[in-house]
Amino acid sequence: MSVLAVRGVTASVAGVDILRGVDLEIASGEVHALMGPNGSGKSTLSHVLMGRGDYTVTGGSVTIDGEELLGLPTWERARRGLFLTHQYPVEIAGVRIADLVAAAVDADPGIGATGRIAEEAARLGVRDEFLTRGVNVEFSGGEQKRAETLQLAVLQPKFAVLDEIDSGLDVDALRDVARRIEAMTEETGLGVLAITHYARLLTELRPDRVHVFIGGRVVTSGGPELADELEVSGYDGLAERLGLELPGAVTVPDTAADDPFANPGF
Ligand code: ADP
Ligand code: MG
Repeated sequence: MSVLAVRGVTASVAGVDILRGVDLEIASGEVHALMGPNGSGKSTLSHVLMGRGDYTVTGGSVTIDGEELLGLPTWERARRGLFLTHQYPVEIAGVRIADLVAAAVDADPGIGATGRIAEEAARLGVRDEFLTRGVNVEFSGGEQKRAETLQLAVLQPKFAVLDEIDSGLDVDALRDVARRIEAMTEETGLGVLAITHYARLLTELRPDRVHVFIGGRVVTSGGPELADELEVSGYDGLAERLGLELPGAVTVPDTAADDPFANPGF
């Protein structure tokens, strides 16, 4: 039994404050949904958790079983059991998925044999031919997210942050991916933070807790009924019920987003 604890995390990008005190606690086997309007900082949170370099953490802590992750390089965080599926998976021409996953498996002697790749591919409905293609190169939305889920299933982390794993998926792919992840919560006790806009994912993933994220922090949390309320009333209606102002979009200077060296994007 493990606990991922996020306490009072504040962070900025290109000098603009985006995260304003994020608190979350996820135990093994739990599914937490994080829902919030575009630009509220959900992806920023996922990158800060994983340690991407172009985000500056200005306060707070992120621990797994009491051990601090902030300040560790990304690979160390992965070693300690954290995994991120990206909203926009990166294309890596010339690197086959099978080789990428095998290298990750070899880097961690705690994970079983590479035979698991074929087993998981079959379980996820991924064809063998697909495993030999360049990572995410010319993949459809569904193929990208199946590939991310394949890595997740083989690596068996303690906690997975899923950044809009449902975006760009057709209903069949959504069901396959969500069911595989749901099964992991039971088989290996995977804890999940699922960032999503859609209640559809949550009917498959069945969250224990739903958090609403507005203006860089969790403004309210509840059970699955909170996702249903959002479907009906939207963020406007919820903000009104909570007596909150919906902040306008934050503007970050373009230079930061456009400079590939300032923004390595791994
Ligand atoms: P969400 O995922 O909730 O839609 P994001 O975390 O992607 O929101 O973005 C929050 C704000 O931070 C946006 O204004 C976005 O443009 C800005 N931002 C996020 N990452 C970067 C970055 N690497 N460089 C510049 N601005 C960024
Ligand atoms: Mg996002």
